[in-house]
Formats: sequence, C-alpha cells, structure tokens
Amino acid sequence: MIPPIARQFVAGESAATALEHARQLNDDGVGAILNLLGEHYDDRADADADTDAYCTLVGDIGATDLDACISVKPSQLGLNLGEELFRENLARIVDTAAETGTFVWIDMEDHTTTDATLDAFEGHVESYPSMGVCVQANLKRTMDDLERLADLPGKVRLVKGAYDEPSDISYKGHDRVNEVYRDALAFAFETFDDGVAIGSHDPDVISYAATLHEEYGTPYEVQMLMGVREDAQRELAADVPVYQYVPYGDRWLSYFYRRVRERKENVLFAARAILGR
Ligand SMILES: Cc1cc2nc3c(=O)[nH]c(=O)nc-3n(C[C@H](O)[C@H](O)[C@H](O)COP(=O)(O)OP(=O)(O)OC[C@H]3O[C@@H](n4cnc5c(N)ncnc54)[C@H](O)[C@@H]3O)c2cc1C
Repeated sequence: MIPPIARQFVAGESAATALEHARQLNDDGVGAILNLLGEHYDDRADADADTDAYCTLVGDIGATDLDACISVKPSQLGLNLGEELFRENLARIVDTAAETGTFVWIDMEDHTTTDATLDAFEGHVESYPSMGVCVQANLKRTMDDLERLADLPGKVRLVKGAYDEPSDISYKGHDRVNEVYRDALAFAFETFDDGVAIGSHDPDVISYAATLHEEYGTPYEVQMLMGVREDAQRELAADVPVYQYVPYGDRWLSYFYRRVRERKENVLFAARAILGR
C-alpha cells in the first residue's frame, strides 16, 4: 500500500485509483495523463505485462467520458531488450488506443533512446495522429528534432530534460537550459499547427507560452506533475487546457524518492511526515 506521504505524487497502486483521480481532476477542469510506473525492464515478461495493462487502461478510459490519456516510457515497453520489442509493444497499445480514440504520449528517456523513440513515434503518427512525443531542450540535437517533427502530425511536449547527459551533447546550467528552452518554444509555436504542450512548472516559461500563443495563435496546453503546483494547475485551467501527469502502480518508491530529492521543500515535507510533525 502507498503510504500517505507518497500520495501527494502517486495516485495509487491500481488503475482504478488513477481513473478515480482523473475524475476528480476533470471536475476541477484539469485533464489527466496516466502513467503506469515502470522503466528499464530487462525481462520481457515485465514489458509485456505493462503493455497489457496499458491496453486494458485505454479500453477503460474509452468506456468513460473522462478527459484522460496515457504516457508510456520506451524502456517500460522493452527498449532495453531491443527496438523490435519496443515497437511491437507500442503498436499493440496504439492499435488498442485507436479503437477508443485515446491519446498516446511517449515520454523521452536518456539520449541513448532518442532516435529509437522518435523513429517509433514517426512510424505510428501518420496513421494515428492522436499521439505526442516528448523532446528535451537540454539536448543540443533538439532543434533538429523539432524540425523533423514539424513535418509530422501529432503533438510535441517540450520539457527542459530530466536526465544528466554528457556535456558534449547537452547544455548545462539552469540559465543556459532556460534560454534554449525559450528558443525551442518560440520555434515550436511558430512552426507546429497541431499544438504544443509545455511540460513545465516554471511560471516564466508558462507566461512566455501565453505570449507566444497571442503572437502565433498556435494551440497549446500546459502539463504538470501530480503533487507539484496543484493550485496553479487549477487556476491556469480557466485560461488554457491543463493536463496533470498522474503516475500510479506498485513501482512507486523510486519515483517518490526522485520527487522528494529534487526540491528542498519536499525533503522537509517528507521529514516532517516521517517524524509525525
Ligand atoms: C508533465 C511532465 C512530463 C515530463 N516528461 C518528461 C520526459 O518525458 N522526459 C524528461 O526528460 N523530462 C520530463 N519531464 C521533466 C522535465 O524535463 C523537468 O526535469 C522538470 O519538469 C523540471 O523542470 P521545470 O521546467 O518544471 O522547472 P525547474 O526548472 O525545475 O524550476 C523552474 C521554476 O518552476 C517552479 N517549480 C519547479 N518545481 C516546482 C515545485 N516542485 N514546486 C513549486 N514550484 C516549482 C519554481 O518557480 C522554479 O523556480 C516532465 C515534466 C512534466 C511536468
């Protein structure tokens, strides 16, 4: 069972709890991006099991009127075991999602997976455009990737990048990453017709997106993580579509630690909860 302290960031262990969370978000005007926690599988059985779970989940979403979609990780679908398995499992999910019209996002993992992820996205999005892929501003290749994606249907989620990448292929330091993020965002608003997703909690980035929207008219949405700036998510939803990334599942522990470690306030919150104060 997930302890109360982790429930700020993780909806629950079962798909039912994630769907219930999505219902509550929808009541507040916020959409849900459901992510079954799991990554870096070295055993095919794990990748196949999560693929089955996603197929069931998109069926469950399709049977409701929820504003909800899914986001999958390539290494969760077996990329560490080979590109073929990843593509096979992704195809199963996309085919099932197409039956119900559920949107499918693909998360972006570290730089060793970028080509395989973009190739797989390109392989599906022409026939099923209700898809999106994440790209990371901290990678030097990203402007080229955005140019490639501009010729395709589907959406792009622009994030700053969560992985510590080698310095020859990535930008380092908050200021530099913020600067290249803004450049990439401006390019995306100028170029993408199908819309841009802002995967960020940064108020500066979010207000810059609003300015770019006024200038270019490109549709956009803001995506934030469960448990982070939740009040802002609900406030923003009055002006722009907001989607909350909602992790769930029994592999919650490492995700929870990552969230706690990334911010001083979260460490204090966790310490207080453990000490009962
Ligand atoms: C929906 C979503 C999906 C993502 N998907 C991916 C992915 O597929 N691949 C990937 O590499 N990365 C992904 N990321 C992570 C992303 O790359 C960043 O590491 C992460 O979002 C931190 O950058 P930031 O822009 O949110 O803000 P930061 O640069 O960390 O912070 C900027 C400002 O935002 C505000 N802020 C940030 N965090 C908080 C907080 N916890 N509480 C209050 N205010 C805060 C503060 O004002 C802060 O000064 C995703 C992020 C989101 C939100």
